[in-house]
Amino acid sequence: MKDFYNILEISRDASPEEIKKAYRKKALAYHPDRNPNNSDAEAKFKEVSEAYEILSDENKRKIYDQYGAEGLKGFPGGGAAGGGPGFSSMEEALRTFMGAFGGGMGSGGGESIFESFFGGGGGFETEAREKRGTSKKLSLSLTFEEAARGCEKEVFLNTYGSCEACKGLGAKSHKGIQTCPTCQGRGQILQSRGFFSMSSTCPACHGEGKKIIDSCSECRGSGRIKSKRKVKIKIPAGVDNGMRLKMTGYGDAGAQGSPAGDLYVYIEVATHPAFVRDGDDVSLELPITFTEAALGCKKEIPTPLGGVCKITLPEGTQSGKVFRVKNKGLPNVHGQGHGDMLVHIRVETPVKLSEKQKELLHALEKLDTSQNHPECKSFFEKIKSFFSN
Ligand SMILES: [Zn+2]
Ligand SMILES: [Zn+2]
Repeated sequence: MKDFYNILEISRDASPEEIKKAYRKKALAYHPDRNPNNSDAEAKFKEVSEAYEILSDENKRKIYDQYGAEGLKGFPGGGAAGGGPGFSSMEEALRTFMGAFGGGMGSGGGESIFESFFGGGGGFETEAREKRGTSKKLSLSLTFEEAARGCEKEVFLNTYGSCEACKGLGAKSHKGIQTCPTCQGRGQILQSRGFFSMSSTCPACHGEGKKIIDSCSECRGSGRIKSKRKVKIKIPAGVDNGMRLKMTGYGDAGAQGSPAGDLYVYIEVATHPAFVRDGDDVSLELPITFTEAALGCKKEIPTPLGGVCKITLPEGTQSGKVFRVKNKGLPNVHGQGHGDMLVHIRVETPVKLSEKQKELLHALEKLDTSQNHPECKSFFEKIKSFFSN
């Protein structure tokens, strides 16, 4: 049995601020950008995000306190806990994370988490990555079809690229680089204060350990040059609104040959006039005539990937009936098969009838028996018993 309070290491009467603070600390520690290819951290990140999702919502927290995680099953908007086993995808967990901190840290927090995330300096980046290039983000709008089938997009990015003239070195040649005399190349200096000695970043070389004495004239020693760069982005089939792609190394080049930052692509998917998406499943409303509904029919319907599929509607198909066509939904973005297509039937009542048509319908009506309309019959029986009581 999961205990969301234990997971966030907070007491059961923690205030909303304490919950957010605890989540921030844990989410940053386990964030996938800090723990690439670490499935333990990934599981932890999902777990703390789920706990936060529940405990930050006053309603869900109340239900959870009273009935436990079981109580949240099937809860409208219950999200993670609704399904029982927690966040199944990283996207969900990242969405929670962005929902909590994407809009800045609020009062007194100063910079938004994403400032430090994308700004490259301070906070989130570790010491060793200080010289790394800045990570970039961009939003990419896709049509429904592009998201369903996958596509390739070309964008132009203003980034710092590695300087061609010096290959990112910053100096005209290797001879133009000297070991920093202040720290002898260590990048750190030791300062003694009484019994203690403290090490700090060398102020002369900013931790580089080297000094450029003969700067490259193209980049003036930085090793990078601002440029407009064409980037091809491969969008996998099945991406959904709000997902994020990470393109490692596509951000700014690092200073003096340090690793480049990353590019984060935020996906926005336009709505479709006919298809409505729910995860990998897709819904479609299919209008049929009154005669087709009564007699049954075969229909060819478009699928979201551009093909058609045939469905057979039986005699007496009712308006509102939903037919599930297996595997005709969208491809799963992680390559795990396809979703289903849900065909919602809507029977269209005929309009603008001619005199002849009306005549025939009246003739048909005379032949009606109560067996033809079991629902009408049972409705009037219910009403009757209501009045006789
Ligand atoms: Zn130095
Ligand atoms: Zn250069």
